Amino acid sequence: MKYIVVLADGMADNPIPEWDNKTPLMVANKPVMDELCAQGQTGLLKSIPVGLHPGSEIANMNILGFDPRKYFPGRGVLEAAALQVPIRDNELVFRCNLVTVADGKLMNHSAGHISNDEAGELITYLNEKLHTEGVRFHQGVSYRNLMMLEDGKTGVFCRPPHDHPGESLEDLLPDAEGAAEKTAKRLRLLIKHSIEILSEHPINKKRIKEGKAPANAIWPWSPGKPGGFPTFEERWGIKSGAVISAVDLIRGIGGMAGLENIYVEGATGLFDTNYEGKAAAAVNALKKVDFVFLHVEAADEAGHEGDKDLKKRVVEDFDRRLLKPLWQGIQGLHEDVALALLPDHPTPCALRTHTSDPVPFFIVKPGLTPDDVQSFDEFSVKEGAFGVLSDGEVLEKLFE
Ligand SMILES: [Zn+2]
Repeated sequence: MKYIVVLADGMADNPIPEWDNKTPLMVANKPVMDELCAQGQTGLLKSIPVGLHPGSEIANMNILGFDPRKYFPGRGVLEAAALQVPIRDNELVFRCNLVTVADGKLMNHSAGHISNDEAGELITYLNEKLHTEGVRFHQGVSYRNLMMLEDGKTGVFCRPPHDHPGESLEDLLPDAEGAAEKTAKRLRLLIKHSIEILSEHPINKKRIKEGKAPANAIWPWSPGKPGGFPTFEERWGIKSGAVISAVDLIRGIGGMAGLENIYVEGATGLFDTNYEGKAAAAVNALKKVDFVFLHVEAADEAGHEGDKDLKKRVVEDFDRRLLKPLWQGIQGLHEDVALALLPDHPTPCALRTHTSDPVPFFIVKPGLTPDDVQSFDEFSVKEGAFGVLSDGEVLEKLFE
């Protein structure tokens, strides 16, 4: 038996009043999803552990059976794993945003979504100017970069910049108690130095002239150290597996768990993603490995846009352009395949952000007697045979 999890990021939603209190999953035309759902067993999954925020990294780790309360290594470490950046033993790793500060306030978390080229130049400049302070930077995508701090101690408290737009810098700077206080102090100094040197950089002078937000500060956060993360094989006894995703954090989880990351050309993480390419890559991967985690981001982005019509279209594209060729491809394999499909969390269009509500799922597998649920959505699956599961239990049922 081979196994595939199809993860539709943010696809679950809330009832929409203009649609007679139906959700995008309920109004979308999705014959393949409904057919597979009818052939399988269904239920609801509590994918976010109580007390944790409903981030995709938390939900996906939890679904894959790695309890984020125990194993979450920090965003920086996950992204470093995705980018295959080697980390030294004495380094503390941070996600490091390029941000905009003005008048003593944190103005935005993305430096106006600065371009890769500009960010790359600034990251090189930061390395030149600040390497004597025991720090190195690695370019990621746009404002999302990495910072490694030599001899940094865990336990330092850093605030995520996207949660604090417009707030006073002094109140937001990293702090700590006890052993990590020295690290916090170094971080505060680094941020202040970065403001001094980045404010003078020609790229930022040009951006200001063009009416764009300057990238005039670094913002390190979500610190962590690699290590202690079990492999997928250790966790589940499954020998080989692959992750297909356009999202760094998800690739990072795959990398940490010892799964192979498969890159698909044209996989963007957006509505224009290469659905067919991802389906084909998954079928190919199933010929070689025992487990495939196929992650599709588009529905989440539609939810963040707050666009219900777009979300409905994403569900339909996903069904026709990804699920259909995927299932056809699976039928052509010489081996039985068990498939689970689920979102990681809801991203309701009305809220434009994630929630912690349970998500619908189905499993279709040879020998598994179908329950009575005929269509796949947030409400129909309440009648499903699996009832309400939590954490890594969908994978447990899939592998059973
Ligand atoms: Zn999201």
